[in-house]
Amino acid sequence: MTNDQHQKVQASHLKRDAYLYVRQSTLRQVFENTESTKRQYGLRQRAVALGWAEDRVIVIDTDLGQSGAATDREGFQRLVAEVGMGHAGIVLGLEVSRLARNSMDWHRLLEICALTSTLICDEDGVYDPAHFNDRLLLGLKGTMSEAELHVLRARLQGGILNKARRGELEMRPPVGMVYTSDGTLVLDPDLQVQHCLRWLFAAFARTGSACATVNAARNEKLAFPRRCSKGPHKGELLWGNLAHDQVLRVLHNPRYAGAFVYGRCHTVRTIDGLTRLRRMPRDEWITLIPDNHAGYISWEEFELNQQRLHAGAQSIGSDRRSGPPREGPALLQGMVLCGRCGQRMTVRYHDRNGQLYPDYVCQRERIKYGEVVCQHVPGTSIDQAVAAMLIEAVNPVALEVTLVVQQELQSRFEEADRMRHAHVERAQYECELAQRRYMRVDPDNRLVADSLEAQWNEKLRALGEARDEYTRRRDEDARILTDEQRKAILQLASDFPRLWNDPGTLDRDRKRMVRLLLEDVTLNRDDKIILHIRFKGGAHKSLHLPLPKCSWQQRVTPTPVVEEIDRLLDEYTTAQIANVLNARGFTPGSGSAFHKQMIARLVRDYHLKPRYDRLRERGMLTLQEMADKLQVTTSTVKIWLRRGLLRGHAYSDKNECLYEPLADLMPRKKQGAKLSQRLIETTVQPERTKGVQYAT
Ligand SMILES: [Zn+2]
Repeated sequence: MTNDQHQKVQASHLKRDAYLYVRQSTLRQVFENTESTKRQYGLRQRAVALGWAEDRVIVIDTDLGQSGAATDREGFQRLVAEVGMGHAGIVLGLEVSRLARNSMDWHRLLEICALTSTLICDEDGVYDPAHFNDRLLLGLKGTMSEAELHVLRARLQGGILNKARRGELEMRPPVGMVYTSDGTLVLDPDLQVQHCLRWLFAAFARTGSACATVNAARNEKLAFPRRCSKGPHKGELLWGNLAHDQVLRVLHNPRYAGAFVYGRCHTVRTIDGLTRLRRMPRDEWITLIPDNHAGYISWEEFELNQQRLHAGAQSIGSDRRSGPPREGPALLQGMVLCGRCGQRMTVRYHDRNGQLYPDYVCQRERIKYGEVVCQHVPGTSIDQAVAAMLIEAVNPVALEVTLVVQQELQSRFEEADRMRHAHVERAQYECELAQRRYMRVDPDNRLVADSLEAQWNEKLRALGEARDEYTRRRDEDARILTDEQRKAILQLASDFPRLWNDPGTLDRDRKRMVRLLLEDVTLNRDDKIILHIRFKGGAHKSLHLPLPKCSWQQRVTPTPVVEEIDRLLDEYTTAQIANVLNARGFTPGSGSAFHKQMIARLVRDYHLKPRYDRLRERGMLTLQEMADKLQVTTSTVKIWLRRGLLRGHAYSDKNECLYEPLADLMPRKKQGAKLSQRLIETTVQPERTKGVQYAT
């Protein structure tokens, strides 16, 4: 054997270095299993005996304390790299199993050793992986090593599982629980720790949300214990702020409810070599023994907490829940389903003049894959319609009718029951008939027998269904309303609208009421908005709403107002029109009252005929025309107008006028003559008095 070994070691091998790989699985083994470590280092002498110089033996011991199954062993990777680069003449390890604990690593190493003609040496001898026999043996050793690991693990795991199934396995206790010397789990004797946990459960019971519990802890400035999981202080309690994940961990942990559990999580290895913990559904837990030891809450409370957490969770799997009602005014928050793709729609608010307006948006695909928003529906009109419908649904008349119908149905119960029972009897009869037919047929006549048997089976199934249906309907009808219940229902008619319309009722409470009554609402936006409303009892209702106007449309001045302005322009200036409209109670599309600039703009925008043109059409004269006609100066015309001698109509708000032709002046001839006489004397130049004379 020794000769053989020396034959394998060639001069070409001796030119390269010898690599000694040393590893112990755990730090504890490194300290306690010193003999093995010594033996591993002893292999160095072996390399020297094979002809390597002492200083050419390189020891790789960076993996001490690392499991062979670990994927990121730095030392092993270095070894593979050195072999791959052809630096190694021989690789030494105490056992092959020390090199690689999984076949993949091991065979890769063998392959590389064969390519670079590197030898492998363990306690039993020297191998050349390029030789078929050696390679076969090494491969076998690797497989054995892997099998050994498996058997070891299975043995240990089996022991743990057995203990776990009996509920006797000691596992690291959660914060607030400790093991006594005899191995029973009890509440931590530290009263401060106990107090903290009791506070947490009480706070969750009060608020119903993990977030709210965290907020409450912050407001009360409570410090919470957390167990240090690694480092020199491992196992000690650290005090700090309560975190959301901590609350969830405590609430989800059945051990606080006194239950023994094992197998809540499984370790899964991913394709990229990492390990992840996967939470298992409850029916796949290995052990669950309620009331196994002392706890902070009862099992019923634990179950209730789970339900509340589940109901409040924003998303669990693909089945997205509606979520708890929040403060925003969107009435249907979390209850709206998209009529196009079936996803739950989210709420988006926009602010208009300090008030929040909800929009329902289907944007899951957008968030997930960056696609366009599926649909976007303004929510205000929808909320109003749903609220009106709910109030309508509980009005006294509707309730009365419902109760009468219910009573009517009740009275028909006996009759209906008899009819349904007859149906069951009929199914029974048909079934027996099919049975008799099948019994009578000659069993050798397979074809007929088979078809008759199939018929019999069919009748049996129908009978089962008929019986189930009968019991179900019977149970349903048997619910009789007591007088008290009737009274309570009728009371609802007055209570519900009062509570709903009370300004003191919070939006969140309104949403809670909606959730009690409605299951969900499906929205579809087309040329109008279509709502399909599903009530808790299973009833349906559809509403069709017009698409709400967009903001510029909402600010458009109503057509009747524009028509009114058109009429008023015959008589008034813009400022006067504004006053008239305000006095008559008209309101503009935006703002609270009309003003003259607004009217002027409307005249321009709607292409109404300006007042100036209208007056001109009626034959009114401008100042200059009037002056020319009267053969006086424009100032004189103005003065005459002020004195009432002439009649003018203002066409602008700066007192600019158009003048009525002189014919209108004729009835006031006398007065005009007097005035003009005086004016001629006082103001008007003599040569320009002709026109006035003409006027007299
Ligand atoms: Zn959608």
